[in-house]
Amino acid sequence: MKKRIFIGVAWPYANGPLHLGHIAGAYLPADIFARYHRLKGNAVLMVSGSDQHGTPITIAASQEKTTPQEVASRYHSQFLESWEKLGISFDLFTSTGTANHAEVTHDVFLTLLRKGYIYRSTMSQAYCPRCMRFLPDRYVHGTCSYCRGVRARGDQCEACGKPLNAAELIEPRCSICGTTPEFRESEHFFLRLSAFEDRLLEWIQKQTGWRLNVQNFSLRFIEGGLKDRAITRDIEWGVSVPQPGFENKRIYVWFEAVIGYLSASKEWAKSKGDVDAWRAFWTGDAGTYYFIGKDNIPFHTIIWPAMLMGYGGLNLPYNVPSNEFLTIEGDKLSTSRKWAVWVPDFLSRYDPDPLRYYLAANMPETGDADFSWPEFVRRNNGELVGTYGNLCHRVLTFLQRNFEGIVPAQGGVDAGGRQLLEETLNTLETVDSLLSQCRFRESVRHIMSLAQSANRYLDEKAPWKNIRTDPQCAGTSLWVVLSVLSGLKTMLYPFLPFSSQKLHTQLGYSGRIEECGWTLQEPQQGQKLPAPSPLFVKLDESIVEMEQNRLRQAVGQTVPAV
Ligand SMILES: [Zn+2]
Ligand SMILES: [Zn+2]
Repeated sequence: MKKRIFIGVAWPYANGPLHLGHIAGAYLPADIFARYHRLKGNAVLMVSGSDQHGTPITIAASQEKTTPQEVASRYHSQFLESWEKLGISFDLFTSTGTANHAEVTHDVFLTLLRKGYIYRSTMSQAYCPRCMRFLPDRYVHGTCSYCRGVRARGDQCEACGKPLNAAELIEPRCSICGTTPEFRESEHFFLRLSAFEDRLLEWIQKQTGWRLNVQNFSLRFIEGGLKDRAITRDIEWGVSVPQPGFENKRIYVWFEAVIGYLSASKEWAKSKGDVDAWRAFWTGDAGTYYFIGKDNIPFHTIIWPAMLMGYGGLNLPYNVPSNEFLTIEGDKLSTSRKWAVWVPDFLSRYDPDPLRYYLAANMPETGDADFSWPEFVRRNNGELVGTYGNLCHRVLTFLQRNFEGIVPAQGGVDAGGRQLLEETLNTLETVDSLLSQCRFRESVRHIMSLAQSANRYLDEKAPWKNIRTDPQCAGTSLWVVLSVLSGLKTMLYPFLPFSSQKLHTQLGYSGRIEECGWTLQEPQQGQKLPAPSPLFVKLDESIVEMEQNRLRQAVGQTVPAV
């Protein structure tokens, strides 16, 4: 039966380009999952957008002497270009800067207010007497009051991941001038998180399909109690507060950005000309998945679910398959140090599929994973070009040379061939199950193992030896491998959409793979196949040194610390 799958993907801050950590952490797994479900014939709605609010953007704007809107718009278009080139197939990638988002945010805010889950109170907010301004939380540094980690920011501790208020920091300092800020009373709205503690605990404990790291992190987060949190701030950039007397304040970004999943779904529905189309993805038995990096876990397993519980009538997350971090050449990825591989830069020199392949085969699902250039070249040349690409290429060129490109008859498949076909069907089933559980690395391993089996079978049958003496036997072995290739292009499509579509055409199938379903399509006897071209390009070993130098040189450049 056709299922409905909602896929929410973390909203990137529109204050800098995307790097490979973003891709491995959230966007690639989400896209693999979306493509898999579309292949299965399920209805998928995958949305995200750029987070245009928040202090990092105002900081970037003041450093560049421009407006926050200009910074946000520039990176938003860059994001769209990266999704296109990388094949990240959003149904909608919008932004938090739309009128629709403000409207939906106001609806959630006012509903929670009416139900008593948002209330008015005062909080002390950091004020720098030297800079003469209220300091957004990100502008305050100090020691974390939970884990005693130093260099915690006023919005979140990097060491333990807890969201913070500047007032909770030990020895706070203004990040602009280093002065100890004063704390002045200011009236704000608060989310009554404490009211959801028991329900959240019970809900998280009963989850059986979550990754252990996500579940344990969330349970630890609730231990010791949930505090109510201020959801408005004394800032000018953000969504307005729909209450009189709050004209000079804004809704704080962490409350407002997660509502983006709902507002984007409504925007998508409007664009389809069916304003209620979003409901099917947010109610009933629709599967609800959020793909995020691990620094975003509490917002998606605690705060957003609490807001949804309070709002009522909408599905809670079914799974939040958060990934761990990606390191680069063995070192922690750092945008401020510029130790990163940037997506637009990468795609200006290399094809998207080899990157998708390497990041998926090495995805940080259960622990941190490393991106290294030697490994990228090795995976590309050894696995994509050597194993899979070579299998496709030698079968298809042999077919052109000896069968005029015409798919041979099945003939009498021997035991070895039957075994390989059975392995293909088993792999389809196994990968189906693994992908439905968001186990991407394992999926790649099973698929590549099938490609290796097919190579071994082809070597054993050696059709190039018996083509003169027994062309029917040679044809049968080609027919078997063509069947395997048909299975491979289907299973690899979520991972390698560009080359899989290309192989689909080279195998003589028409239309888009996505419409063919998660099945093994048999080769069509008598059909003439087009002349093949290689699916992947072998990379020269010399790029390793070139790219490593590029990385090291970037680190020496000064960058604004945000
Ligand atoms: Zn901490
Ligand atoms: Zn200051």
